[in-house]
Amino acid sequence: MEDENRVSNFIEKIIAEDIKNNKYKTVVTRFPPEPNGYLHIGHAKSIFLNFSLAEKFLGKCNLRFDDTNPAKEDEDYVNSIKEDVKWLGFNWEDREFYASDYFDKMYEYAVYLIKKGKAYVCNLSPEQIREYRGTLTKPGKESPYRNRSIEENLNLFKEMKSGKFKEGECVLRAKIDMASPNLNLRDPVMYRISYKTHHRLKDRWCIYPTYDWAHGIEDSIEKVTHSICTLEFEDHRPLYDWFLEQLEVFHPRQIEFARLNLTYTVLSKRKLIKLIDEGYVTGWDDPRMPTIKGLRRKGYTPESIKEFTEKIGVAKSKSVIDFALLEHCVRDDLNKKAQRVMVVENPIKLIIDNYDENRSEEIDVKNNPEDESAGVRKVTFSRYIYIEASDFMENPPKKFFRLSPGKEVRLIGAYYIKCTNIQKDSDGNITEIHCTYDPETKGGWSRDKRKVKGSLHWLSVKDAIDIEIREYENLFTKENPDDVESDEDFTQNINKNSLKIIKAKAEPILRSAKPFEHFQFLRKGYFSADKDTQNELPVFNKTVGLRDNWAKKNN
Ligand code: ATP
Ligand code: MG
Repeated sequence: MEDENRVSNFIEKIIAEDIKNNKYKTVVTRFPPEPNGYLHIGHAKSIFLNFSLAEKFLGKCNLRFDDTNPAKEDEDYVNSIKEDVKWLGFNWEDREFYASDYFDKMYEYAVYLIKKGKAYVCNLSPEQIREYRGTLTKPGKESPYRNRSIEENLNLFKEMKSGKFKEGECVLRAKIDMASPNLNLRDPVMYRISYKTHHRLKDRWCIYPTYDWAHGIEDSIEKVTHSICTLEFEDHRPLYDWFLEQLEVFHPRQIEFARLNLTYTVLSKRKLIKLIDEGYVTGWDDPRMPTIKGLRRKGYTPESIKEFTEKIGVAKSKSVIDFALLEHCVRDDLNKKAQRVMVVENPIKLIIDNYDENRSEEIDVKNNPEDESAGVRKVTFSRYIYIEASDFMENPPKKFFRLSPGKEVRLIGAYYIKCTNIQKDSDGNITEIHCTYDPETKGGWSRDKRKVKGSLHWLSVKDAIDIEIREYENLFTKENPDDVESDEDFTQNINKNSLKIIKAKAEPILRSAKPFEHFQFLRKGYFSADKDTQNELPVFNKTVGLRDNWAKKNN
């Protein structure tokens, strides 16, 4: 059992209390995705929360597909969800459950409620049901079908199940209280008719349980002790409890927490699907998507996502988290792991006049200064070098520490060089920078302790390869893209320039980069080989820049 000193969030406190009071023995939690889309960073928060609670209390966490709505669910979603939970580092062992496996039991329970006089078949249309429900200020009106006999209800419900009625013709409702101040208790719907084919059970059923009716039963059957969900379900808790009390079955405890919201991001599957369907992104794994697959392709690691969810914690009140915090976490993680390489985006040719034309040498360059065990690699140095055009200025302002006429700088890992003159074309554009190098500065440091301010990345012209870089901006221009008149216009805040494709020169080692492999391009940021990278033209996604905007704002 949990040592109380380590209890940190309010949910852990509740669970610890329940265990202490012998309310439950072994803690069981669950992650219950509906297979109607891919998982996103919000789901990651729920996954980490549920699995880590189970781990802390030496319990178990189930993976349960809440597949109660055949209209939107699919096998492909089931598979992608499993891949993502695994990639995040969690193991549900043999506890892979499906709500649809409990449909027989749910039907049996519904019959039980009808027999108790606590459920009835109602022929009001969906619009009428809504109208009869009333509002927060207006009590509801009872359905004219509310007082059907138990016998009649049993028959009608059986007929519903056997396919006698059309979609929308009737529903099964709980008989609770049309005057309840909680709208969820005003005779909520338990079953509706649908002739859509279910991805697992095909056409075996034509009645499907609603979330409210199904969820507590699913939890109860699995002996879940703590059913953790997001705040929207707080008002549903009395209904969750009512159903379980009426059924007199094992009664899990529902606990709500605030869902994750992120700046410049939408996190509703419905909206993410719209972004794909309307072509704003290329798919669920587009690196601009807040999905697990998108983040992964952009170069995020499971460790960085875990660190993020730990940093934001669990709260009971709504908030919006700065996307820069997520970036901070990935930068921190990649700093330790990413191999360093040199890439030049906008190359300009530099000629070292006192370096022999026929000579070249292999220079040892550190793979990761943060990790000695990463070792060194050989980089070829020769007379003809590329540097970044922006690292040279003919008439520099005072604080320009990079290369300019007469100035000396370091080529990282190689030598000190000094600019002697430049060549221009007839339009006045610089075409070549001429330098001399100091052979006494091999390795990039000077024996006479002469200091230089600038350290430039570089490539040997002969060896450099071509690569493609994809740089991303936020997908939305507004910090809160959901802040629009109607739910449908969130796309008006889309950033039209969220993708920039750049051709660049790079060290030849990048030709053999494997999909998802991480790199730091020196002085540029962290990058990850795209899942479709090719030897002929390696492709890299920018994961995150080097500047830590979050740490700057928060220190
Ligand atoms: P969406 O609104 O994105 O469609 P959902 O809640 O309908 O999400 P489910 O598949 O039902 O998606 O979610 C599975 C679990 O993940 C639920 O327990 C839900 O509470 C949790 N979850 C979903 N979105 C978030 C979020 N933004 N933050 C934290 N938990 C979330
Ligand atoms: Mg849901």
